[in-house]
Amino acid sequence: MTDRPNLADRIDAILPQTQCEQCGYHGCRPYAEAIARGEAGINQCPPGGAAGIAQLAALLQRPILPLDPGHGSEKPRMLARIVEADCIGCTKCIQACPVDAIVGASKLMHTVLADDCTGCELCVPACPVDCIVLEPMPPAQIDAAHADAARAHFRRREARLARWHAEREAELAARKAALDTPPSVNRADQQPSGARNAVQEALERARNRRLHPPD
Ligand code: SF4
Ligand code: SF4
Ligand code: SF4
Repeated sequence: MTDRPNLADRIDAILPQTQCEQCGYHGCRPYAEAIARGEAGINQCPPGGAAGIAQLAALLQRPILPLDPGHGSEKPRMLARIVEADCIGCTKCIQACPVDAIVGASKLMHTVLADDCTGCELCVPACPVDCIVLEPMPPAQIDAAHADAARAHFRRREARLARWHAEREAELAARKAALDTPPSVNRADQQPSGARNAVQEALERARNRRLHPPD
């Protein structure tokens, strides 16, 4: 029995849940697990900043470190907003958003659900027409309730994508198996009816010759 899952949970509870990937991991939870395994430093999360590092150091009883500049710098949290008049409806921002905070449909205007946006900024470089702007996040949105919601949205999206990939893999495997299946061993069954009759007749003639050899 190991305490790793509990430790990862406790580390994850400290992380800000923007899911921005600046730590070098695919979201806060994978980073929390890497810290718990001793594979990542406690100073790789710019959104958590100095306060987050201090909390992690206390939890893990390690020295406080400065934020590693290789992972970015601490700055005020932001919210994304789509300049809807310029949006071409390409859906690329929806695909980039780790917490499902963007709604829209192909070739239609998209919009950010401001209350669900974590300010991860992943949608900004994804937009081919630069119509996503960042604005200061209201201080009331930087609280535990929003972090918990972001964690839940991230998990829900990850589960949905995992299901989608599994279904896609199964579909591709089924198609490959169908292509790889050799044709039926009963060749006569594969013949057109005329050819099948000819085969049957030839077999019967051969049988008759065996049973009634010519004098
Ligand atoms: S907020 Fe960003 S940098 Fe910090 S742990 Fe989460 S994904 Fe990593
Ligand atoms: S809308 Fe953009 S900035 Fe906000 S959470 Fe989604 S990807 Fe991140
Ligand atoms: S990436 Fe930009 S243009 Fe494409 S749907 Fe999103 S906001 Fe609109």
